[in-house]
This record gives sequence, C-alpha cells and structure tokens, in this order.
Amino acid sequence: MRIKNSTATYIAGVTVATLSITALHLATPLDRIVLHQVYQRLYYIPIIAAAVKFGLRGGLLAALFASVAYIPHVLIHWQHSNPDYALNQYAEIVLFNVVGIVTGALGDRSRTARARAEQTAAELQRAYAELRRTFEQLLRADRLISLGELSAAIVHEVRNPLGAIKGAVEIMEDGIPADSPRREFATIAKREIDRLDRLVEEFLRFARSPKPTVERMDLNELIETVASLIERQAATQGVEVTKELASPRATVLADAAQIRQALLNLCLNSLQAMPTGGRLTIRTRPDGEKGIAIEIEDEGGGIDPKIGARIFDPFFTTKERGLGLGLSIACKIAIEHGGTLNFRNGEKGAVFRLTLPASA
Ligand code: ADP
Repeated sequence: MRIKNSTATYIAGVTVATLSITALHLATPLDRIVLHQVYQRLYYIPIIAAAVKFGLRGGLLAALFASVAYIPHVLIHWQHSNPDYALNQYAEIVLFNVVGIVTGALGDRSRTARARAEQTAAELQRAYAELRRTFEQLLRADRLISLGELSAAIVHEVRNPLGAIKGAVEIMEDGIPADSPRREFATIAKREIDRLDRLVEEFLRFARSPKPTVERMDLNELIETVASLIERQAATQGVEVTKELASPRATVLADAAQIRQALLNLCLNSLQAMPTGGRLTIRTRPDGEKGIAIEIEDEGGGIDPKIGARIFDPFFTTKERGLGLGLSIACKIAIEHGGTLNFRNGEKGAVFRLTLPASA
C-alpha cells in the first residue's frame, strides 16, 4: 500500500513539474529568449527522474508527456515569430525522447543488476546459515560420539560396585533400630544409589543405542501415540496439548521407537517447564523440499541464552533431579536419522524443531 502511494506521489511530482515548466513558458514574454532556453532544459529533470525511477517505460512516457506539453507552445508562439528557433526546439524535443529512452534503459539495466546482486547475497546468506547449522550439528555429533565412547566404558565399571554398595547399605539398615534417626541416612544413601543407577542405565542406553532401523512410517500416527502417552501427566499439570498437523498423511523413513523416544524427551521437558499449566503444541511442517519438521512448542518461559549452547551436552541439566541426557539422546537420534535438532525461543517458551528426511 505504502509502495503504491509513493509511486503515485512520484508520478504526480513528474506531472506537476512538467506542467509547471510549460506554464512558465506560456507566462514568459517571447523576447526573454534566455529564460525560455533555461525553461526548456528544465524538462530534462522530470524526464530523467522518471527514467531513473521507472526505467525505459517511465523515461519514454515522461519524455512524450514533456513533448506533448511543449509542442503547442512552439507551434503557436515560435513557429510564426521565429521559425529558425522553432526548428531548434523540435530538435530539442527529439532529444527529450532520446534522453528518456537512454536513461530509462540504463536505469532498467542497473535495477536488474542490483536485483541479481541482492538475490545472490540472500542466497549466500542462506547457504552460510545452513553451513553454520551443519557445522554446529557436526561438532555436536562428534562431541556426543567421543563422549559416549569414552564414558560408556567407565560407566560400565561403575555399575557393579553400585549394586554391591546398595546391598551393603540394606544389610546395615537392617541392624539399625526402626525408631533410630540414623535410618534416615540409610534412606538417603539408597535414594542416591538409585539415582546413580538410573543415570548409569540411561547413559548406557544412550551410548549403546543401536543404529536406527528405518522403515516407512506414518509420522502423524506416531505423534498421536506420543500425545496419548503424555496426556495424563499434562492433564494433572493443567497443560493443554494441541496438535497442528501440516497434512493428513506424512510419511518418513525412520525408526519409529527411536523417534517416539526423541519426541517424548522433548515433550517431557516441555511439561517440566510448565509446572503450573500452559499449552504444549506439537506441530508438523514441510522442511524445505526434502524433509519434514516436527516442532514442540511450550509456554514455559524459554531457555536462557547463556545456557543455550550447552543444553545438548550429555549430563547438562539445570534441574535438581535431572540427568541431563534427554536432549543429547534426542539429538543423537536426529543426527543418526540424517535429520537435525535445534531450538529457538518462541513467544512464551521454547520451540524445539526436529527435522527428518521425508520418504519419497
Ligand atoms: P534434563 O531434562 O534431565 O535436565 P535434558 O538434556 O533433557 O536434561 O535438558 C537439559 C536442559 O535443557 C534442562 O535442564 C533445561 O535447563 C533445558 N531445557 C530443555 N528443554 C527445555 C524446555 N522445553 N524449556 C526450558 N528449558 C529446557
């Protein structure tokens, strides 16, 4: 709308300028020939302005308009009083049109070159952003793999002594009278051992998770399953789960169990971010030409940019009883499927975006 208005103002400006110059000719006595010579050259200003702004068509139209406005004055006033001067003016009118055409053509050419340069710059910027995303993802994958391999061996060694410690604590607990305050220490010790055990279990699952066995699967059906799995937890927290599915059928080549795990991890994080209710949206969208993106958006306040770079690291957690493995597992699954996992902060909370290659 604003562009249309500015175009109309520009056209009005060119028209008024041309008519004003003609009015000056008509109002000036013929013996002030120097003034007339100045006025006739003023026509070049609206002609060039229109050519620069609107290109060949604009330049030609403005030149024709100036010619039509000026010719009657030459015909009526100069043709009789000074035929030689009139001839000179006809030549000038021809020049109006030549200048309009040449300037307009040059304007068109420079506009095309500018548009091409802008398009190239935008494409370069897109490619650069894509390259950076891929690089970050590769870096993350590399970190996950080396950390996974290194710690899997250590974690495995931790598991056996843990079982022995738990057994020993239980034997010691039996020797403590039921009303002794020292029983509480035994309870704390057992709880912490359980937590360590859970961590070890989860970590081993993460480090040793098999390569995905991909098959063609219906993504929407999988999302329905995930939604029904979190339904009860969401209801107790007052969280409304909304699904926005891009198309009635979306098939991807994926390992259904692993993708379900990844989506569950993301949904559980979102639920944990909204202990007092809100809305959790599971959305699917086309991702470029060859993929599908699944977005999990919550209203939990989002992620502090200061920790944004670390949330995918194994064991990174801000929760008192968190393991810090949910996102690393989801990220590993995404990468092994040839997809990506990223996040951004939305209006009211975090938006996690998992992309998967669509099946042809
Ligand atoms: P955990 O949930 O055990 O902490 P994760 O790897 O799943 O481990 O998450 C790592 C951290 O990322 C969380 O501790 C939290 O700080 C942050 N996080 C993940 N998802 C969200 C979310 N939806 N909203 C806010 N913070 C989140």
